[in-house]
Amino acid sequence: MNTIEQLYLSQKSYFGENKTKPVVTRIQILRKLKEILRKNEQQLHDAIYADFGKSEFETYLTELGILYHELDNLIKKTQRWSKRKRVWTGLANFPAKSYIIPEPLGVSLVIGAWNYPYLLSLQPAINAIAAGNTVIVKPSEIPANTSRVIAELINNNFSKEHIHVIEGGVQETTELLKLKFDKIFFTGSTAVGKIVYEAAAKNLTPVTLELGGKSPTFVLSDTNIVVTAKRIVWAKFLNAGQTCVAPDYILVDKKIEQKLLEALKREIESNYMLETGLPANYLQIINERNIDRLEKILDVDKCYHGGQIDKDRRLITPTILSDIDFSHKVMQDEIFGPILPVIPFDSLEEAIKQVKERSKPLSCYIYGKHRSVINKLLSELSFGGGCVNDSIMHLANDNLPFGGVGNSGMGSYHGKAGFDTFTHYKSILDKPFWLEPKIKYAPYSERKMKLIKWLMGQS
Ligand code: NAD
Repeated sequence: MNTIEQLYLSQKSYFGENKTKPVVTRIQILRKLKEILRKNEQQLHDAIYADFGKSEFETYLTELGILYHELDNLIKKTQRWSKRKRVWTGLANFPAKSYIIPEPLGVSLVIGAWNYPYLLSLQPAINAIAAGNTVIVKPSEIPANTSRVIAELINNNFSKEHIHVIEGGVQETTELLKLKFDKIFFTGSTAVGKIVYEAAAKNLTPVTLELGGKSPTFVLSDTNIVVTAKRIVWAKFLNAGQTCVAPDYILVDKKIEQKLLEALKREIESNYMLETGLPANYLQIINERNIDRLEKILDVDKCYHGGQIDKDRRLITPTILSDIDFSHKVMQDEIFGPILPVIPFDSLEEAIKQVKERSKPLSCYIYGKHRSVINKLLSELSFGGGCVNDSIMHLANDNLPFGGVGNSGMGSYHGKAGFDTFTHYKSILDKPFWLEPKIKYAPYSERKMKLIKWLMGQS
């Protein structure tokens, strides 16, 4: 038996002994994790800076701050969410009562992606704990320093039967996927999502798949161009475009194309100065393989702004490609980097048709003022979630379940949705002995039939 199997079996028996179920235990772990993260914040910052130059400001804004908020929310609400909930029984079952018991699924596996390494490994993991599960966390191996620090902080401070981190890549994940987990939560590419789904299907393990895709951004002719450009530029070039919900490309009404391009350029110029060293508000591309991939799709002939690649510093300047259409190479796969193609459209109908012909995206953003046009886009297009007149910020509201649809994923999390993802809701009808009406038993009669119809509200 290898160490991964041993770990799995130890979690399985720990769960079987009901050790993870008491709500006080769950909350203790969440509190302790928050304390540990806070105490070791500098180490977390240093590791992520070493991996891809992510600043303390952005790490706090897009990872640690969100984790603290989610931990606080879970600490406050786990007690309430774990309680059984009474529901109406109906006359047919009188005098029974009915209730729903939230129960943990069991031994869960969380597989993380590299682009927000702390958030994407730990946010699902704390939801698993809050819901009463054990969890094995497998962070992405690509940012090696953050993976190591996550493993150290978790494995040195918590019992491995309850929460443990396994570091590694394809080999370790493949070993993990052979085991019969009660829940698998995966964040990553659609291609690997299919591998995970297939492995899970063999054991009928429920999965949440948080995948990627090409998220369109519609810019309509009546938008506020300055604010639109500001919000798109921030969302696109945050994390150097290495964000699953980043605006992948812009679809702009031809009437305002030129004005939008100028505004985007102005916004980039006033935000990003990349002449020397590692800039404080911009990130490196995670590795050489991704620089090479991005270099291939960065068409210099279509470059409206930016387009410089500095392989030594692993930087690509914020880049806008103009006069693009759907057949261009940049439009074939998710960009996942600081390249923003702008596609002009004459007909909104045609633009909608093009988006609909492609895989359902994780996000969609719509900038404009005309409500009927906004509502048309919202009702005609299928996508995971998004914003009207903003980008990315739907993630900052934990009342909005976050997840994809179709090729961009299945299931959701954040806030209560995260707790639900790791919970089975067990429905119970609970009846006393003192009343046993004969109505449902033979011999059947016309009178009984009438009464049944009345009880079922059909008389
Ligand atoms: P990835 O699919 O390459 O890797 C994700 C995880 O799977 C890693 O932990 C990796 O070790 C593991 N893995 C890789 N290949 C595997 C294989 N053959 N078998 C088993 N496991 C394997 O994804 P990535 O490069 O880390 O992340 C980028 C992708 O993730 C993008 O498509 C992005 O859109 C998506 N993403 C989605 C979300 C979301 O919340 N929906 C968030 C971040 C990233």
